[in-house]
Amino acid sequence: MYPISSNNFINNPYTSNSYNQSHYWQGGYNQPAYGYFVEPDTQNSAGKTVAMAGLLQVIALGLNKASQWFSNKLAAGKEFTTASNVHRVADEMVRKNNLDVHVGYINDANKYAYAQRFNISAQQIEEVARGQNAFFTDKLKLAVAPEHKPSLILHELGHAINAKNAFTKVLQNTRRYAPFAPTALLLANGLFSNKNDGKKSFIERNAGVLGFAAFLPTIVEEGLASFRGIKAAKKVLNNPAGLKILKKNYLLALSTYILGGIGLGVASKQAVLEDSIRT
Ligand SMILES: [Zn+2]
Repeated sequence: MYPISSNNFINNPYTSNSYNQSHYWQGGYNQPAYGYFVEPDTQNSAGKTVAMAGLLQVIALGLNKASQWFSNKLAAGKEFTTASNVHRVADEMVRKNNLDVHVGYINDANKYAYAQRFNISAQQIEEVARGQNAFFTDKLKLAVAPEHKPSLILHELGHAINAKNAFTKVLQNTRRYAPFAPTALLLANGLFSNKNDGKKSFIERNAGVLGFAAFLPTIVEEGLASFRGIKAAKKVLNNPAGLKILKKNYLLALSTYILGGIGLGVASKQAVLEDSIRT
């Protein structure tokens, strides 16, 4: 998909920057339980944890804003060449790679026919018709882009080529599981950490990096899809100035994925931190 929605992880309870997450601010979790002797050092580390939670919240908000900025820039991006040139490059990608994929350029006139034929939701196809999305699905053997922004199809056909290669197909499939990283880390931390020894577990210390790592295969696969599209455009068209525009547009799209990965890292850190606050 392209670009990643800035709301992508908002539905995930751990990345939500809505304020319902801050319930623990009033929770008094850093108050010592009655009769429990709190060493000054422990007090201090509880304070640090609260500061860290606040900082993560601010970072999550900033990431959302930045992602929105990139998405807007991308939406305002120019087409790098004429529609018929893009169609030529796309046809060449399909032919050369033996892609068994239906390529669709979606407009208001054909959107409902596509939705019906491929059993896609009206909202999904509407986004494409409006120029807000493009996608490839291996299951439906379908790649679509907005008719007035056809250049997005070259990236989607890059995904179609990736789907034919065993290794890049694995990268593609990890996307489904990546959003569960915060929950998975939380569960793993509960299973493997010794809460009584007072030390931070490996997962507690590295939750951010681990969360980002879960999204890294997706970022790599996205970059590769764009690379394939750019390569094909370069081969079929002799248009260096236009290619620059295409590269810039694809880089903006990739940026939203990189921010998404950082967002998942922050969400993972938040999840583990909240858990340590509760227990
Ligand atoms: Zn993509």
